[in-house]
Amino acid sequence: MNFAIINGKLVNRSEAKVDIEDRGYQFGDGVYEVIRVYNGKMFTVKEHLERFVKSADSIGITLPYSIDDCTALLEELVTKNNLVEGTIYMQITRGTAPRNHVFPAKDVVPTLVAYTKEVARPVESLTNGVKTIRTEDIRWLRCDIKSLNLLGNLLAKQKAAEQGCFEAIQYRGDQVTEGSSSNIFIVKNGVVITHESNHLILKGITKDVILQICSQNNISFEERSFTLAELAAADEVFLSSTTSEVMPIIEIDKDQVKEGLPGPITRKLQSLFTEEIEKQCGDLTEKISS
Ligand code: PMP
Repeated sequence: MNFAIINGKLVNRSEAKVDIEDRGYQFGDGVYEVIRVYNGKMFTVKEHLERFVKSADSIGITLPYSIDDCTALLEELVTKNNLVEGTIYMQITRGTAPRNHVFPAKDVVPTLVAYTKEVARPVESLTNGVKTIRTEDIRWLRCDIKSLNLLGNLLAKQKAAEQGCFEAIQYRGDQVTEGSSSNIFIVKNGVVITHESNHLILKGITKDVILQICSQNNISFEERSFTLAELAAADEVFLSSTTSEVMPIIEIDKDQVKEGLPGPITRKLQSLFTEEIEKQCGDLTEKISS
């Protein structure tokens, strides 16, 4: 049997249902997280749950469990579902109440849901890199909140998919912000550059691990926005996310990035990132070939 969590209880996945007046369903009034599981162990779970609490706090939802209780619940879910390689999706909404833009009374209980999915590491794409497009960033100005409202992101991702690409690189004016579901990095003259974590992007957990790896390994980096011109002139480009790790970008709007192959600093970061996963979750069987 496959299980899900609804409001602190493990239930049969097929019986996990929420009300049609759940505010997540009607308004996207909630926040979410995706946590990677390798070898049955959660990677950077503390960081994800801290961001979950922060996102929820910033829209006035209080998580009814401590981070420790949440971790224990998710561990139980992973174990019960025998999840080895995959993801946990979790979301919290402001709860169920008669439809009204105004928040419901304080006694309305938030709805917390979590379930798992088997997902293999995208080893082929990690090895060969992916193609991307550029598209204008039409999202709201609180992209730091991991909100359920993802329409801007979905439209960007769909545009990429329709052109046979993996990701859409978004920009505001001439500044690159982030991907539709990832952070974007360029490498120029040995320096790794990625947008600073402010209201225009999501502070990626993977991004933070990468920057930590850079500082521990004497790889120069700058956290600042960069322009479309810098993107076009970059030596290397890659994206990062929980499910995509350190993913080389080899093409942008049909133009090759340099020779159209993953670059040396991207490869170095992939290998250091893999070490970090193995430190927390044990050895990985499938390797990225270079
Ligand atoms: N930006 C956006 C818009 C995202 O959806 C994601 C994926 N969660 C990221 C960045 C990368 O964040 P993380 O590394 O925490 O998965």
